[in-house]
Amino acid sequence: MSESRLKEAIASKKMICPECKKPVEKYEKFVETVASVWDGAGDSGVEHEGSKATIICGNCDWKERTEYWDSYIQE
Ligand SMILES: [Zn+2]
Repeated sequence: MSESRLKEAIASKKMICPECKKPVEKYEKFVETVASVWDGAGDSGVEHEGSKATIICGNCDWKERTEYWDSYIQE
């Protein structure tokens, strides 16, 4: 999940605040998180990629720092 997806969701008002049900107005402190796990043999790496952001409603006082910001996007 990339920052452009988050930006786009907010711009198109698809990210909905769980408290007041209005579109979230902004986010801050977006960071990518990447973790790699290797089994030692060198040929079966598992990568987990994610990202974290603070989502700020702007309509009410709700804000949340989460890795699961994707779950607030209504398609
Ligand atoms: Zn709200």
